Amino acid sequence: MYHKNLQAHLECMECHTKYDITEVIFRCPKCNGLLDVRHNLEAIKKIPANQWKELFDQRLLTEFPFSSGVWGKKEWVLPQLKKENIVSMGEGHTPLIPLPKYAKELHLSELWIKQCGVSHTGSFKDLGMTVLVSHVKQLMETNNSIKAISCASTGDTSAALAAYAAYANIPVIIFLPQNKISLAQLIQPISNGAIVLSLETDFDGCMQIVQEITSDKEMGIYLANSMNPLRIEGQKTVGIEVIQQLRWNSPDWFIIPGGNLGNVSALVEGFVLLKETGIIDSIPRVAVAQSSKANPLYKSFLNQFKTFEPVKAQTTLASAIQIGNPVSFKRAKRALEISRGVVEEATEDELANMAAYLDRMGMFLDPHTAVAMVALQKLKNKDIIKNNESVVIISTAHGLKFTEFKVNYHKNQLNEVQAKYANSPIILPPDSEKIKEIIRQKLL
Ligand SMILES: *Cc1c(COP(=O)(O)O)cnc(C)c1O
Ligand SMILES: [Zn+2]
Repeated sequence: MYHKNLQAHLECMECHTKYDITEVIFRCPKCNGLLDVRHNLEAIKKIPANQWKELFDQRLLTEFPFSSGVWGKKEWVLPQLKKENIVSMGEGHTPLIPLPKYAKELHLSELWIKQCGVSHTGSFKDLGMTVLVSHVKQLMETNNSIKAISCASTGDTSAALAAYAAYANIPVIIFLPQNKISLAQLIQPISNGAIVLSLETDFDGCMQIVQEITSDKEMGIYLANSMNPLRIEGQKTVGIEVIQQLRWNSPDWFIIPGGNLGNVSALVEGFVLLKETGIIDSIPRVAVAQSSKANPLYKSFLNQFKTFEPVKAQTTLASAIQIGNPVSFKRAKRALEISRGVVEEATEDELANMAAYLDRMGMFLDPHTAVAMVALQKLKNKDIIKNNESVVIISTAHGLKFTEFKVNYHKNQLNEVQAKYANSPIILPPDSEKIKEIIRQKLL
């Protein structure tokens, strides 16, 4: 079964002007509003919920690239894309792991962690990037003004773009804030041969520059940041995939760390499609978790979103969400209204100790997922998340991308952090009697 009659278009979220999906625009040319990809809901709804579920389940075991977690749902993502233009590196289908011990501590009925970092470049950005790069590949068949793809990044977007574009043989230009991303994140685009520009500014400064450069049509540079709604289409599959993994049942809550805020919008877009097709009865509640060093959404939430003030983002261990002026604020506000959402924040000390605490239960949390875990604990303490509710945490990156964070934690050398669970290696001579003595003491 392959549905050829479905169509998606671009639509301004402010003035609702519609544009063809093939137009190379990153904001509404009329009013400068953010754009959405809109699907033909009437056509999607003509197919009954059971048929969609069957199709998506069946594709889990189908041939590449439809076996990808994103392209298995192609009709809901980018229906007009030709199969030969799909640029996939096997994204999606990441593990959903139950955390029964911690769920019990928090009096939750169930708690899962969605391990999006178990993927080609080690973060959930692969989900959106496969779609964006595939779309550009198709555009380049007929539009020879596109010369390269570009993004500003806090580390993971650039890693994903560099890998997918290199795989498709498309040039890449990356704007990074100097000294503000991890070593693993930096070496990824370097290895993939991207033009890496390290700027003496922060992410918000890089985002400003990339918007100026990509809006100059003569440059022919295509924007890959999530301001471009093509990214959102891939990223939205994460929530759909979780619900599929729960045998098409929805948990009560999802918690996701937020920076530029494209991903919270994407998550809720996925739920809206599930609700419209009748696959779920109600949209789960969503919490966005921010670092207290970069918390403009949290501040706006405290004010019922009546006002929004960008902040100057301060240095935080959660460097991928160190963003003071999120481009997708309006999308996030809409998403939180649809999902009766809330926002919470975490300090450096809270996030670092939370990561270490859960690492002792076998996790290896990146700092952003730790921010989400702190949000869970706080929302539970405030009784916003209730006893016996079920929660899914979106883990956005692999802990191995943030080894400096782990190493410095266990040396108790992180700013503003009192490392409660620091664990140091014991240096010993190769003497088995002495070693036995130490082991006995340790296991007491
Ligand atoms: C990009 C990213 C986020 C935040 O996503 P936004 O869409 O910018 O809100 C969170 N965690 C990690 C690890 C990321 O790379
Ligand atoms: Zn408009």
